[in-house]
Amino acid sequence: MKIGIIGGGQLGMMMAKEAKSLGHTIMSLDPSPTCSITRFSDCHISKPYNDEEALEYIYDSCDVITYEFENIDLEVLRQYLDKLPQGIEALKISRNRLLEKEFASELRIEVPAYQAVHSIDDIFVPSMVKTVSGGYDGKGQYKVSSKNEAKNAFLNQKNDLICEEFISFDYEISVIGTRGQNGDCVFFPVPVNIHKNGILHLSIVDGSVPDAIVKQAKLDTKHILEELNYVGTLAVEYFVKDNKVIFNEFAPRPHNSGHYTLDGCDISQFRAHVFAITGEELPRPKRINKSVMINVLGQNKKYYRNARSVEHTHIHDYYKKSTKENRKIGHINITYQNNQDITKIIQTIIEE
Ligand code: AMP
Repeated sequence: MKIGIIGGGQLGMMMAKEAKSLGHTIMSLDPSPTCSITRFSDCHISKPYNDEEALEYIYDSCDVITYEFENIDLEVLRQYLDKLPQGIEALKISRNRLLEKEFASELRIEVPAYQAVHSIDDIFVPSMVKTVSGGYDGKGQYKVSSKNEAKNAFLNQKNDLICEEFISFDYEISVIGTRGQNGDCVFFPVPVNIHKNGILHLSIVDGSVPDAIVKQAKLDTKHILEELNYVGTLAVEYFVKDNKVIFNEFAPRPHNSGHYTLDGCDISQFRAHVFAITGEELPRPKRINKSVMINVLGQNKKYYRNARSVEHTHIHDYYKKSTKENRKIGHINITYQNNQDITKIIQTIIEE
């Protein structure tokens, strides 16, 4: 099939790579002529994401369209719905933190207490104050522990804000699930995610999350996939506290915390996404090894060199032309066995 991909970052690149290995042809759209996807795309259009002429050309040329970039004009996308299995409902909800929390609570999924911020009095403590839209990787977020910090958070932001209960979680997990065109849902083994400065640092998949937590988180994710009538791979992030699963947010696309699946499972989140949007039956993903994924940011290039001397490491570079601080430039997957000291291996890779 001919697949149109909107967005040419690393997610689009990994989708394209897997789709090519399944014999599909790729047409991509991203303003940058040198973005990651150009390594694998058969035809790249460097135009803005909302360029109607380019989108129409992709719609006419392709059998199916998918997106990895989330800030596309919904009204523009609406015209292409018959070739867009992911739909636009998931996009509309996930990019507005208020709608997202409302949506999850209506499904009776546990969410942190939250409140739209119209005035400084709407900010309670302790909390996380976040921009309602546009924030990612910890941007537009403030941890607020006092009335003074509340004032700073309020005055520093011109955008709409949401105040969320601060959850002193025991750990964070994500569920990566894929829903097929026949409504069948499959789930990947659940990683524990460790963030640094609001950016994902490590995903650890060693089977350590208790069964009851995994079961609840998968059930909540299934409700979300079904309610959205979503087709493709989607990820939901949760906090776990006192054995309770608390919803944080979801992303209607493959997710950074699912990159481990490229080496740790018999099918990756990207391959499953391609299967779903092209109408193939979905195989049930199985873990083939314990794994850890380490994100590599612009300032961490040395991780690559360190990783080369470690067995069973898989380097995934995103071929970024410019490398800025805190920008994701690649990731390293480590697959390992019970008898290996993974903490030591991680240290070897991330040491300065
Ligand atoms: P987000 O962009 O909402 O995923 O936030 C990035 C990270 O900030 C999360 O993965 C958490 O580590 C932390 N965080 C976000 N919201 C909260 C919260 N309500 N309570 C505690 N930590 C949070």
